[in-house]
Amino acid sequence: MLNNITVLGAGMVGTCCAIQLAERGYKVTLIDKRRPGHGTSYGNAGLINRGSVFPLGMNELVHHLFPAILKQTPHVHVHLRYLPAYWRWLVTLIKNNRTRSAYHNTVISLDALFQHALDEHKRLLLKANALDMLLEGGWLKLYQHEDAFQDSHRERTFYDQLAIAYDILSPSQISELEPAIFPRYAKGILIKETASLSDPCAVVNRYVDLLLSLGGKYLQRDVKRLIPHCQTYTVETTQETLEANEIILAMGPWSDNLLHSLGYHYPMAWERGYHQHYQPEDGSRLNRPIYDVEGGFVIAPMLQGLRLTTGIELTHRDAPASPRQLKQAALAAQSCLPLGHPTGDAWLGSRPSMPDSLPVIGAAPKHPGLWFAFGHGHVGVGTAAITGRLLAEQICNEKPLIDMTPFSPSRFL
Ligand SMILES: Cc1cc2nc3c(=O)[nH]c(=O)nc-3n(C[C@H](O)[C@H](O)[C@H](O)COP(=O)(O)OP(=O)(O)OC[C@H]3O[C@@H](n4cnc5c(N)ncnc54)[C@H](O)[C@@H]3O)c2cc1C
Repeated sequence: MLNNITVLGAGMVGTCCAIQLAERGYKVTLIDKRRPGHGTSYGNAGLINRGSVFPLGMNELVHHLFPAILKQTPHVHVHLRYLPAYWRWLVTLIKNNRTRSAYHNTVISLDALFQHALDEHKRLLLKANALDMLLEGGWLKLYQHEDAFQDSHRERTFYDQLAIAYDILSPSQISELEPAIFPRYAKGILIKETASLSDPCAVVNRYVDLLLSLGGKYLQRDVKRLIPHCQTYTVETTQETLEANEIILAMGPWSDNLLHSLGYHYPMAWERGYHQHYQPEDGSRLNRPIYDVEGGFVIAPMLQGLRLTTGIELTHRDAPASPRQLKQAALAAQSCLPLGHPTGDAWLGSRPSMPDSLPVIGAAPKHPGLWFAFGHGHVGVGTAAITGRLLAEQICNEKPLIDMTPFSPSRFL
């Protein structure tokens, strides 16, 4: 008999886990309360960024978080009235950052993931007939002032140590790469071996099609409870009750809804972020996602137009949306390139973030047959395919491609 496994959450992470297990002969059921890819995986900047190896550390706290409490910056908005929702995350983050080695360990661990992240996505994209949605132009970081560029010294030292390829660009080189950008940037850094998805939600849907072609099943159900038994699990949904031998919990920012009743209390926070699409009237386009480091916004070329995304809003996942940060980002972005008028509705999502900036991937410490894949913070799209592979390797008792200790679900318990 085939092993059967149920994956809860059809975001980029859960869907990639489901495919990797179906490829290994598992009978997979993927469940989501919405259509696939309509959670956090819907509205991000789509980057699979080889250079996304830096945790939110003490430097960033001092530079952005604490000033943001006094005066909201485009990079970070902090809602103090929701402090109880992210208090444990904040305290653990500060504790983790007391030593340089903790920061360094996160960099090394994220680098280990990103060494394989793009190749693993490419393998799945090829199989899913979705390579047309991969843009391979790198990731362009832009600095308005020479001082700000000089501040990236530590970052560049890490790139050198980790052999992350990059070019430093002059203003004319920036214009050559991205003619639409106004000539206001003193320097640029182009991170190579980096790609982006032109519609992350559409990619999730092509991945689900791939899963179905491998014999997997997709169910649209709202999961309310997970009940462990000796050898099996009952998945209670609003529509019906399902039985499964093994479960992968991959519900991104909603994972704690089920975790609490099972006795797991992770210090997860929701780093919320917004997006808005624009269609420039003069037809301006970008060839790759860009990040204005001082402005604190990203603009990514998407099938829907130019997608402007914001920095962090630290609050409760379910707190009402507040338009301020997106307004600030839109104002700043208008002086980067002729954005034109907004199209469609603003979107809000919650990055599911752990205080050490590393995802939780592996066996649930107290429940045999239950597996975790959540907490991917700022890098869930980029690292989804490799997460799926690493988790499948553990489930199938294969030797994981990299050391999984830093991602262990036991590390906060
Ligand atoms: C503004 C912004 C920009 C970002 N840019 C990038 C980027 O460029 N690159 C990158 O790598 N990452 C980026 N991220 C982060 C990335 O989007 C997330 O890390 C990633 O999408 C998390 O994927 P996931 O599958 O874990 O979660 P999700 O995509 O949220 O999936 C979880 C799923 O669980 C489902 N679910 C919830 N409750 C239930 C229930 N009761 N029953 C059934 N299903 C349920 C949800 O519907 C959802 O589909 C960005 C995030 C934001 C907000």
